[in-house]
Amino acid sequence: MLSVPSGVASWEGRWFERVDVHGPEADRHPEFGPCWLWTGRAGADGYGRFDRAGETTTAARAGWEIALGEQLPKGYGVRRYACTRRLCVNPEHGRPWIASEDIDNDRILARWNATHDYCVAGHALTHENRITIPAGVGCRACRHEVEVERAKRRRRR
Ligand SMILES: [Zn+2]
Ligand SMILES: [Zn+2]
Repeated sequence: MLSVPSGVASWEGRWFERVDVHGPEADRHPEFGPCWLWTGRAGADGYGRFDRAGETTTAARAGWEIALGEQLPKGYGVRRYACTRRLCVNPEHGRPWIASEDIDNDRILARWNATHDYCVAGHALTHENRITIPAGVGCRACRHEVEVERAKRRRRR
């Protein structure tokens, strides 16, 4: 679980100031704790926005970067799976997502999996579901979903 960093002037501190961590229960996966509702500015699409170092990013992405301790690589977004609330920025409710979905080589996803009991997509990382992938710890259920998606795409062609 995240804690508020001590440096008040840091961007992480500014981010936490705009978050209500006592939001409603997650509507899809209540076991992942309450929603953290963004009280700052939102875009026309209904998602929170956060300004940092002269750049605007989504509030959910900034939260994920705090949880991860580093910036998400270019091209990543955060997709919610535990709830359907656009203003929710609880890192536990979303997963970093990249269009290529190359999960076997995804260092970010592997790092999350290594330190959690459930994968970035919310599957329980039981002994049977936990697999070794080139990037580290992988999730069998995720890989299966990606393979199903790929097969669908191939059939469409
Ligand atoms: Zn949520
Ligand atoms: Zn998974």
